[in-house]
Amino acid sequence: MKALVFEKSGLESLELREVPNPSVGDTDVRIAVKMASVNPVDIMSVESLKVYPIPHIPGSEFFGVVEEVGKKVSHVSPGDRVAVYTRLFDGTCRSCLRGDQTYCKAGKRIGVESQGGYAEEIVVPGTNVVRSDLPDEILASLPIAMLTPYHALKSAGVSSSDVVVVVGASGNTGMFAVQLGKLLGATVIAISAKPWVKELGADYVLDYQEAEEAVREITFGDMASVVVNSLGGKYWDLSLRLLGNHGRLVTFGSLTGGNVNLNINDIYLKHASIIGTNRGSMGDLMELLKIAGKLQVRTWKVFPLEQGRFAMEQFKSSDRKGRIFIRIN
Ligand SMILES: [Zn+2]
Repeated sequence: MKALVFEKSGLESLELREVPNPSVGDTDVRIAVKMASVNPVDIMSVESLKVYPIPHIPGSEFFGVVEEVGKKVSHVSPGDRVAVYTRLFDGTCRSCLRGDQTYCKAGKRIGVESQGGYAEEIVVPGTNVVRSDLPDEILASLPIAMLTPYHALKSAGVSSSDVVVVVGASGNTGMFAVQLGKLLGATVIAISAKPWVKELGADYVLDYQEAEEAVREITFGDMASVVVNSLGGKYWDLSLRLLGNHGRLVTFGSLTGGNVNLNINDIYLKHASIIGTNRGSMGDLMELLKIAGKLQVRTWKVFPLEQGRFAMEQFKSSDRKGRIFIRIN
């Protein structure tokens, strides 16, 4: 089969190669990958993360159609479209038994610590797939871009009484944080420099310069009850300034830097909480499947697998207006 493969870190080493088809064990499924997306973790996996095995196939977010199932798999059959939970878990450790597959003691990220989905086929455990007839771009956005903000908003306990500010609302996760916040009934304020963010249905769309004053005005001085900051350091101070009393600042990424200054007074005087979250569980994915059909995916460009390296290079383009997908079969 064809796959994007690299042996040495760096996008320039990524190339399309013919590699052996993966074999299917009794509890596995073989999937013909239909569509994969490009996420920050994919760029990091090629550029800097310690990956396994080598030569390595990146691709941590994708969906496909089942081609073959192992002897012990009965919940899906060849021909089924499936959403894929892209973290491997054993199902038996104490974290898994609590339903917290993200922290499986033997867990691995597909596309980082095991072969990913930028390939014509992938084999994953049957326990990682769920049948779904949702559209392509939605299934190809579920495992990371939708699951991460869904879990983050849940962890922050977002409800209809909240004012949720999403910093970086045009981002891979930001665009879904905005829409999921609305689905949970909250008032949503999107902060972004990109005009197309208005299409996502936020109650207010603000640019960075005006954000603090505008949020003060919109909330009659209360400020936000929840701030979602997936971008990290660059917007940390702004995020804290936007947060009202009893506010919850939820963070799950550090694209613009992971080291920040923190004055403890800003936290306790506001009775604030800082919540770190990390993707989501299989249970979150199951919940998300029920509502994901209501989410719109802002797609910028779709490339064939042959142009996978170019697709990844384009991720850093300042012109990017939405998601980048790789169409495979
Ligand atoms: Zn486990």
